[in-house]
Amino acid sequence: MTQIPSSALREKIRQRLGFYEDLGLAPFYRTRSVMGSAFVGASRIGGTAPQLGAQVSDEMPARNSTNKSPNAPSPLAPEVPRPAAPSTNLFDPFPTTLQKNSNFFDQLERVENDSLLKIRDDIGDCTRCRLHKARHHIVFADGNPKAQLVFVGEGPGADEDATGIPFVGRAGKLLTQMIQAMGLQREDVYICNVVKCRPPENRQPQPDEVATCGPYLVRQLEVVNPKVIVCLGATAAQTLLETTTGISKFRGQWQDFRGKKLLATYHPAYLLRNPAAKSEVWKDLQKVMAELGLAVKKGKSS
Ligand code: URA
Repeated sequence: MTQIPSSALREKIRQRLGFYEDLGLAPFYRTRSVMGSAFVGASRIGGTAPQLGAQVSDEMPARNSTNKSPNAPSPLAPEVPRPAAPSTNLFDPFPTTLQKNSNFFDQLERVENDSLLKIRDDIGDCTRCRLHKARHHIVFADGNPKAQLVFVGEGPGADEDATGIPFVGRAGKLLTQMIQAMGLQREDVYICNVVKCRPPENRQPQPDEVATCGPYLVRQLEVVNPKVIVCLGATAAQTLLETTTGISKFRGQWQDFRGKKLLATYHPAYLLRNPAAKSEVWKDLQKVMAELGLAVKKGKSS
């Protein structure tokens, strides 16, 4: 005879399933669920369980607005037609070799004896671009200055502008959960953004804003010197890789950034609107965990 769980137990399980869904693990537990589908359907996100490895649409909106797609062109460079290039990446069976549209960052020279303090000092009370006009705080970074893993986002939102700390709003909370799912804490990683001041209405940063702020990001990455850089969303990925190729084409594939391993994945804000893509992001994070020697739990992804 099937035992009906008490309502307190059901609520506990519902909350736990909601947490797993936030981590993108729903496809895993749903296919193995021993509970009735009606009960599982009562979990936070609901709807049809996404399949692992399901294709992510190229038309999906990106972080801040409904009309931005993860393939929105880099603010750094115009789209140019390009021939298909041969694969050179040893880490993925069928990687996309990205066409670079500029090599602005490659040409940046190292600042001698650079430090995070010096970079922050150089930024100062910045008025170099229009973003300073409405900002409340410059959002420099958070986390461990000697981290092996750096997450790079697009730019501060309202919560970050109010606090001066990156990724503390809804998307930030999801990023924190993602970090914890990797077996880490926020204090173990370094978190920063392409632009350090909030773009009005959370719009995408404009090319001149990225060009002005980008060199500080490159300096931060040089000083922290992580083993792996994870770009959250198209703006961070296209900015650092200086490409206009849509993120769906190279998401989850190892790329090179000035001699460091870089992997692009979807932005947590995108995941809040498109929970089905969480399983893809979890697979990306597992690649990062393997690269960093962190225990990758079998069975949580493909
Ligand atoms: N989104 C970002 O890209 N960066 C933040 O700091 C917060 C939200």
